[in-house]
Amino acid sequence: MSSSSRAVPSSPDPAGQACYLSASNAQAWQAVYSSVDAYTRGQVAAVVSDSAIELVDAFYSTLLADAEAGPRLSHEIVSSRLHKGMKRWLKGLLCVRDQGDIAALMATQKKVGEVHARVHIPIHLVMAGARILKNEIAQRLRASDLDGMAASVATQYVCNLFDLAIEQMSRAFMRDINRGARNDEAYRLFALGQNISTERERQRAALLEWSQAVLIGLHYRAPEQVLPRLAASEFGLWLQHKGGVLFESAPALTQITEAVTRLDDVVLPRLLQSGQADLPSLPDQVRELQELVARIKHLLNGLFDMVAEIESGSDPLTNVLNRRFLPSVIGREILIATREHSAFSVLLLDIDHFKAINDQHGHSGGDQILRQFAEVVHQSCRSSDFVFRYGGEEFLVVLVDTARDAALAVAEKLGAEIRRHAFGIPEAGVLRITASIGVASFDGHPDYAYLIDRADKALYQAKQAGRDRSVAA
Ligand code: GH3
Ligand code: MG
Ligand code: MG
Repeated sequence: MSSSSRAVPSSPDPAGQACYLSASNAQAWQAVYSSVDAYTRGQVAAVVSDSAIELVDAFYSTLLADAEAGPRLSHEIVSSRLHKGMKRWLKGLLCVRDQGDIAALMATQKKVGEVHARVHIPIHLVMAGARILKNEIAQRLRASDLDGMAASVATQYVCNLFDLAIEQMSRAFMRDINRGARNDEAYRLFALGQNISTERERQRAALLEWSQAVLIGLHYRAPEQVLPRLAASEFGLWLQHKGGVLFESAPALTQITEAVTRLDDVVLPRLLQSGQADLPSLPDQVRELQELVARIKHLLNGLFDMVAEIESGSDPLTNVLNRRFLPSVIGREILIATREHSAFSVLLLDIDHFKAINDQHGHSGGDQILRQFAEVVHQSCRSSDFVFRYGGEEFLVVLVDTARDAALAVAEKLGAEIRRHAFGIPEAGVLRITASIGVASFDGHPDYAYLIDRADKALYQAKQAGRDRSVAA
């Protein structure tokens, strides 16, 4: 039947779709299927059925040739497994004559998303693949019995179905990827074990043991002497297999690995050849060995400090929350405040003239004041509030369920508390300090950084106005 004898198919109903926006709602699918008439659905189904093999060929030949997607696929897997699956998926989605079984269709997309998460096919590749198919189908629709307008409506219908399918896949994908990330994190914490300081000592000792073994081997050198490689030592094995889990992708881990490689590949062979004319002298070689070992120790210490900090969640000096948790905490408060139409505020505190305290009483004197300051702030807040170490001598307080005026009152009370408090350093006696405070209340903006920025600007005004005061944004 020629399309010219038919009325132009109805165009998709954007209002109807808006009501059922989410692909996890069967009515959203229903709305797309009924956005075109049965004839158009039939034409799309016929085009896809007739050219399913060509469509799937075009899809995989493009992906196989792609620099990112290609290496993930083997030709054999494509022809033996994926080809058939893709054809089935395509027909399931587009060859629906009786509006199909939408629940089953949705379940299929979910399953595909889960598989993608398991085999780590990123969403952007899925979207790129869908673009290939949409274009191939659109081309064929233009060449079909449908006239221009009808072909355009049919193409829109196809695109909507693809988008729904990808949305549904992405949901399942993200859920599983997040679950995977949580499991990885749980494993990481498990691998950390109960006692991070024991592990630190053990690895320090293992590193030392290795360097002693090298020096002893060198001292009692036999004709065919080989020196033990660090990578194969207890420390090296631990580094490769557990260090990667504990320290994830910390840059210091790469630096340690580089130092290990240099020791094994350059320093050890040279130590054995020392004495040859064109090489540095033995003492110079041994010095390089010791420097590299010291560097590894130093980097390792930093990594263990970092892990200990994450593990406890608190700032090691002041025991208040570590700022790395700020995004999660404020993000959550933003969600609650938006959902419940409630308020919350942040205070940004900065100790006045703190540099002078360091200058007069040394860095450790400054540290003692910081600890006491954190304690005063902590004691002055409710247990439902969150206190963070924000920077050197800066603290951030999240006041839950507190609007602007109440937050300013809390800030002023806290300022008075600090002014009144007898801070002390044993050698110096009682010290009086003050702080400036910037206050900002949640104003509906979803980005937590924007809220902190407003508090920071208010703090700056408090400093400009003479310090020892609170200013609200
Ligand atoms: P202002 O009133 O403008 O805030 O002056 P300030 O001296 O407090 O501010 P400035 O930013 O000039 O100096 C802050 C000092 O805090 C400098 C830095 O050495 C010191 N500091 C940062 N972190 C620590 C720390 O963990 N311990 C100690 N003792 N001092 C720290
Ligand atoms: Mg400061
Ligand atoms: Mg300061």
